[in-house]
Amino acid sequence: MSRIYDRSEQLFAEAKTLIPGGVNSPVRAFKSVGRNPVFIDRAEGAYLYDVDGNKYVDYVGSWGPMIVGHVHPEVSEALKAAIDRGTSYGAPTELESRLAKLVLEAFPAMDMVRMVNSGTEATMSALRLARGYTGRSKIVKFEGCYHGHADSLLIKAGSGALTLGVPTSPGVPANIANNTITAPYNDLETLKAIFAEAGDDIAAIIIEGVPGNMGVVPPAPGYLQGVRELTRQYGALMIVDEVMSGFRVDFGGAQTLYGVEPDLTCLGKIIGGGLPVGAYGGKAEIMEKVSPAGPIYQAGTLSGNPLAMTAGIITLEILKRPGTYAALDEKAAYLADGLAKAAEKAGVPVWTNRVGSMLTGFFTDKPVIDFASACTSDTAAFGTYFRAMLDRGVYLACSQFEAAFLSLAMTKEDLDFTIAAAEEAFQVVAAE
Ligand code: PMP
Repeated sequence: MSRIYDRSEQLFAEAKTLIPGGVNSPVRAFKSVGRNPVFIDRAEGAYLYDVDGNKYVDYVGSWGPMIVGHVHPEVSEALKAAIDRGTSYGAPTELESRLAKLVLEAFPAMDMVRMVNSGTEATMSALRLARGYTGRSKIVKFEGCYHGHADSLLIKAGSGALTLGVPTSPGVPANIANNTITAPYNDLETLKAIFAEAGDDIAAIIIEGVPGNMGVVPPAPGYLQGVRELTRQYGALMIVDEVMSGFRVDFGGAQTLYGVEPDLTCLGKIIGGGLPVGAYGGKAEIMEKVSPAGPIYQAGTLSGNPLAMTAGIITLEILKRPGTYAALDEKAAYLADGLAKAAEKAGVPVWTNRVGSMLTGFFTDKPVIDFASACTSDTAAFGTYFRAMLDRGVYLACSQFEAAFLSLAMTKEDLDFTIAAAEEAFQVVAAE
């Protein structure tokens, strides 16, 4: 294609000498799709603009947060005003209570919430709280679910019903990994077997509300309810990680959409409106154990930062307006349908999973219901598709195992532009 990426190439070459891999978060390096990343200059509405002047329809949305679109006028105006009042105080503000109220109103399972600075901090802190509250050490996580990079959660599955964790990363000590049990997602029977064996030692199950980190894989009907019952039966806590799904699949997240009431909920991404925020919350009885109300320690110099609270408050106020989620769902359904037809026309097998405005097209003809089935995808074909879409002005998540996110800023023209690009891109895949 005729697009030029020279400036991005120069900046990436320089960045690699300064920053490990040239990026501050690994996936941004585009490693799994066989090309170098584009460097972004600015964003507006549904679009990204790179440093070479190329324009893209943006389906990454900063990996989820930008659900109202980039540089939303209401968010920008509020942020500009906030800057002039000071960027950080390290002291309580009314803004923190305003955001807390919005969050608690949206998530009835939460009585109290604590703000942190990232999703990683939220899940890490929720685990400490679950362990402190129950006095137990082990946790259960699911294969293919990502909960940030805290040591206990960087564990991948082995085989067998009860597999003691094997760290995904060097640097995670074995005695920490040993306390993480991994289980296959959407498989209640294996989970029951795990609890039958180790139930009295398990502090909590942590599960993504709608997994998006193996690509989008919705919970099977009744699955979350089954997890809920099992945790109750054994006195373990159920932690729903809604860092991605919170305020995304519904204003009240996956727990509202699927009608399940967890003990603790983790949030991030959208609640910061594009600034660094995470949060964890739950029942008062449990949250009252968090310092300084209780003995379980957790803190943060920049937690509740006034700029981040401001962006979060305005973003949630926009999302709260009637019709928002119906509009997102309608856009996403239209896009998913157009993409599926484009793939079919080119004869490329694609299995699409979608929940509201998050979706993944897996390059496989098999139903994708868990991590193992997601792994049947042809990642080389995805790489070809990704590169062809990028060259046609569509910025997708640079891995098969990620979600595409829509924003309120996207118009029918943007979606039609994307579908037209996909028609060509699938032909490129078919020709390889
Ligand atoms: N949990 C989930 C479900 C996530 O998707 C992510 C990030 N993609 C995290 C936790 C970690 O959040 P952060 O990157 O803000 O630390």
